[in-house]
Amino acid sequence: KLPVVAIVGRPNVGKSTLFNRLVGKKLALVDDRPGVTRDRREGDAHLIGLDFRVIDTAGYEDQDAQTLPGRMRMQTEAAVAQADVALFLFDARAGIVPLDEEIARWLRQSSTPVILAANKAEGNAGNQGILESLSLGFGDPVQLSAEHGEGLGDLFEVLLPLL
Ligand code: GDP
Ligand code: MG
Repeated sequence: KLPVVAIVGRPNVGKSTLFNRLVGKKLALVDDRPGVTRDRREGDAHLIGLDFRVIDTAGYEDQDAQTLPGRMRMQTEAAVAQADVALFLFDARAGIVPLDEEIARWLRQSSTPVILAANKAEGNAGNQGILESLSLGFGDPVQLSAEHGEGLGDLFEVLLPLL
């Protein structure tokens, strides 16, 4: 049975883009507008020498602001409970917002190991957000650009001992 990695994070941080990058097929819907992905997706990922099952959490992005946190929490906690590792993505360009901090609190209550990852980290536009993310308490983030395929070697290195 393949180990399971759940990609979690608030809407629009690039979860589906990373999922597509890891699975290598356009299985997850990606759109410029936040709120497009409706269903949770699962696929078989291959990363250098690692094979694992990956879950793209979604299905809450079309909720209104009032119901979003509750729906997100249910989706996130369900995926993380069945995962060997939670890959917690934030948008390095946007920096840390209250919803990221809220997700961090949920993840701390779970026994599943968490890897923090700074997406959209191509170039230098994410440097400030990466500094802000230290306050989440998950250590230095892995720096990724899901869109450009950068940082996947570093992701491999942090996943390897956990899978
Ligand atoms: P999700 O809601 O977390 O699944 O996010 P999506 O994967 O749908 O991506 C949201 C937006 O961020 C889309 O416009 C993507 O093209 C963009 N995006 C994803 N990854 C990157 C990245 O590494 N760099 C930049 N600059 N944009 C990205
Ligand atoms: Mg998505």
